[in-house]
Amino acid sequence: MIPFETAFTIVLENTHDFGTVSLKLEDSPGRILAEDIFADRDFPPFDRATRDGIAINAAGLEQGNTSFAIQGIVAAGSTPVPLENETSCVEIMTGAMVPENADTVVMYEHLEIKDKKAVLQKPVQPGQNIHKIGSDQGKGDKVLGKGTKIHAAEIGVLASVGKTGVLVRELPKTAIIATGNELVAPSETPKPHQVRTSNSYTLSAALKKEGIASVLLHFPDDWEHIQEQLGQALQHYDVLLLSGGVSKGKYDFLPEVLEKLGVTKLFHKVQQRPGKPFWFGKHHEANTTVFAFPGNPGSTFASYHVYFLPWLSKSLGITIQPPKVYLEEAFSNEIALTRFIRAFAYLKEGQLYANIIHGNGSGDLTSLTQANGFLVIGPEKEHTIGDLVPFIPTQNIV
Ligand code: AMP
Ligand code: MG
Repeated sequence: MIPFETAFTIVLENTHDFGTVSLKLEDSPGRILAEDIFADRDFPPFDRATRDGIAINAAGLEQGNTSFAIQGIVAAGSTPVPLENETSCVEIMTGAMVPENADTVVMYEHLEIKDKKAVLQKPVQPGQNIHKIGSDQGKGDKVLGKGTKIHAAEIGVLASVGKTGVLVRELPKTAIIATGNELVAPSETPKPHQVRTSNSYTLSAALKKEGIASVLLHFPDDWEHIQEQLGQALQHYDVLLLSGGVSKGKYDFLPEVLEKLGVTKLFHKVQQRPGKPFWFGKHHEANTTVFAFPGNPGSTFASYHVYFLPWLSKSLGITIQPPKVYLEEAFSNEIALTRFIRAFAYLKEGQLYANIIHGNGSGDLTSLTQANGFLVIGPEKEHTIGDLVPFIPTQNIV
C-alpha cells in the first residue's frame, strides 16, 4: 500500500496523448486548441465608426468650420464614397467604414441637423470615435495560442478570422465498466439482493461535462467473462474506468485478470479513505490506461475527481491547481490514511470557506449531493477552525 501523494504522482506520470482532431467551429467549445491561430486581416479590418453621426476631416475644424454640408450617408456594410472636402460631411453609422479623407466622427447627440447641414454643438477632438484599423491586432499576429481552452470569447475570435474548422486535442475513447452480479439497470426493479448500478451513470455524467461520450459496459463477477470482454475493451479504448471488483472479496477478480491480460500494475491499494483498494495500471502495447476504482459509489466518485480529472487535464496539456479553503469546523483525522471529506465550499468576501457534510460513510450516495467537493486531510492530521486545507471541487463553486 502506498501513500496518497505517491499514488497521485504515479497517475500524473502516466498521462497519455490522444492526438488531435479537426472539428467544426460550432463543435469546438470546451476543447483545447492544438494549433496557433493568426489574424487573417487587421483587427479591426478598417477604420470603423464607433458612433452614429457624421464623418468629417479635422482640418476643417482648424479652419474654424462648425457647419458641414451633408454629402451622403454610409451605413455599416455599405461601400463608402470619399469625403468631398473640408466643409462637407458624410452621415455615418456605427460599424461603417470611415470614408477616405475623413478622420473624425461626431455623434448625432452633439449635432444639430438642419437644411442638409450638420452644425457642431460641442467641441470636437480630432480623430474621435474611430476604432483605428489594426489597433487591436495586426494581420498575421497570433491571436490565440495552442493549448488555449475554447470558451465563448475564443469562438468569437475563431469566427472573426474565418476558422470554420479548428484543430483541437482529441479526447480519450472511454469505456465505463461496472462489475458485480448484484447490479441491475436503473430501469429494472431490483430483487431484494440486487442494487441498481449508479456508478455507470455518475461517471458517464461526469465525463459528459468534459465533453467525453463514453460507452457503458457491465461485467458479472465471472472470471472467463471478464477476461474475454476486458481483453476486447483494452484494444478498443484509450481509458477504462472500472468500478468494483478490486478489493479482497472472493469474487474480486479484476486485479488478477488485468495482470493476466498484460496490463502493468502501477499500484494497487492506496493509504486513503474512501478508495483504498484503487488499482491503477497501463497496457503498454494497446496504450490503454486502466483506472479500477472500488465499487462503493462514494469511492468511485471521489477517485474520479481526485485522480482521473487531473490525469485527463494533464493529458490534454492543462494544469489544474486545486484551491484551498478555510475550515468552518475542526476536523481531526485519527487514522493513518489520507481522507477525502465531503464538504460544501462557498465564497465569502472573496475567500473560500468550507462546511463539512456529515454523511453516513462512503456508501452514502445521497450526502454527495449536498457537497461540492472533497477536503483533503492528511493521515493523523488535526485541523482547527480556520485552517487552510486543499479542496477538490466536484462542481463549480459559487
Ligand atoms: P465492490 O468494490 O465490488 O466490492 O463493491 C463495493 C460496493 O459497491 C458493493 O456494495 C457494491 O454493490 C457497490 N457497487 C459496486 N458497483 C456499483 C455500481 N456500479 N453502482 C452502485 N453500486 C455499486
Ligand atoms: Mg463487486
